[in-house]
Amino acid sequence: MAEIGAAEAVNVYFDDAARLIELPDEMWDVLKTSYREIGVQIPVRRDNGDLLVVRGYRVQHNGARGPYKGGIRYHPTADLDEVRALASLMTWKTALLGIPFGGAKGGVEVDPKGLSNAELERLTRRFTLAISHVLGVYRDIPAPDVNTNAQVMAWMMDAYSTKEGYTPAIVTGKPLDLGGAPGREAATGRGVVYAMDAAAKAWSAELADMRVAIQGFGNVGSWAARELVERGVKVIAVSDVQGGAFCGAGLDVSELVATTETGGSVVDAPGVETLSNEELIELDCDVLIPAALGKVIRADNAPRVSAKWVVEAANYPVTPDGDEILRDRNVRVIPDILANGGGVTGSYFEWTQNIQQFTWKESRFNDELRDHMQRAFDLAEAFATEHHCSLRQAAFALAIQRVAHTAHLRGYV
Ligand code: NAD
Repeated sequence: MAEIGAAEAVNVYFDDAARLIELPDEMWDVLKTSYREIGVQIPVRRDNGDLLVVRGYRVQHNGARGPYKGGIRYHPTADLDEVRALASLMTWKTALLGIPFGGAKGGVEVDPKGLSNAELERLTRRFTLAISHVLGVYRDIPAPDVNTNAQVMAWMMDAYSTKEGYTPAIVTGKPLDLGGAPGREAATGRGVVYAMDAAAKAWSAELADMRVAIQGFGNVGSWAARELVERGVKVIAVSDVQGGAFCGAGLDVSELVATTETGGSVVDAPGVETLSNEELIELDCDVLIPAALGKVIRADNAPRVSAKWVVEAANYPVTPDGDEILRDRNVRVIPDILANGGGVTGSYFEWTQNIQQFTWKESRFNDELRDHMQRAFDLAEAFATEHHCSLRQAAFALAIQRVAHTAHLRGYV
């Protein structure tokens, strides 16, 4: 298959599942295209007086099941096509997890590493105001994604509140002192491991016997690593944009967290061997968790993936032709809309707490998160068994059925 764009690739997964459930013809166009896509200009005054002008996007893919929901990414490759693909994945993810949201995504085409904190704040405030007319507590609620964090959410919330009055529920993933929920920061990574717990039960595997490699050691990858270590799992390799760290006997994850929290790279951690990100994908291990960017497993390297399971913590880490190869090689894939659904589920818990002005204990948050992940996994696994299809096809099929049903009830089709 020739190289295709991210949005087209997600629609390959959509088509595959829609055919399986014999989705009525009229639904295809409504569910495959976005409801609204906006692109905005963001002029930012640099600290040295220069003017930087970047593009920002917000795509609202489908809102049949509730307000639009999805993260905001700051990255030089965050163009409209990528944001559109990620918004569509959010629609299927929220539906599969059974939470009352639609799907959206945002992106700013910028490398934030080159910006000072003050420049980042000006950019965030300008972007928020530029898209504020399509945001709202019951309309569209952003969250963090690649290169955005609780501080960025705090600036977004403040910019929106300056216009509309104090509105903590306008974003999720906020700092705890500003309406953030205890447990949200760890929720995506923890949810990845809860999905692995459910898989281990269903597939009669013992997690504690597995050697795991994780690409990406940011929010999602580092929390997944911490949660795995608690189960006695050996995390033998992790990486970030600068490269990978390896230790066959199992890495000291708390040491890696300490190194990265102070601005270092995993390659700087004491006592580790280094490897490249490409080598990590092909490493001899039992579970590979891509937790960085998209398209890292493709037709060219899928034949050399030696893991038995690929757990998609990142969004769209496997291209459709890479996926086909993994399927032919009987590599089990827990797809992104299932594996990383803990993030948006945790965001849903935060949003409800903000609306009720009531804070849950973290133990309640984690129990609810585990239940949601287990339920979604079991549903997808049962569908896959019944229909002799992959877990990805099952997850998309279930999600499409749910969205199509509500779209029909609301009279879209
Ligand atoms: P992050 O910015 O906190 O971390 C990203 C990590 O990936 C960093 O360690 C970074 O160094 C590394 N990285 C960046 N470019 C890389 C490259 N070219 N090669 C190897 N590593 C690279 O982001 P995050 O929030 O942890 O998100 C990671 C993935 O998880 C993304 O695909 C995101 O869409 C997905 N995701 C995030 C959430 C969430 O709640 N944050 C929820 C669902 C899905």
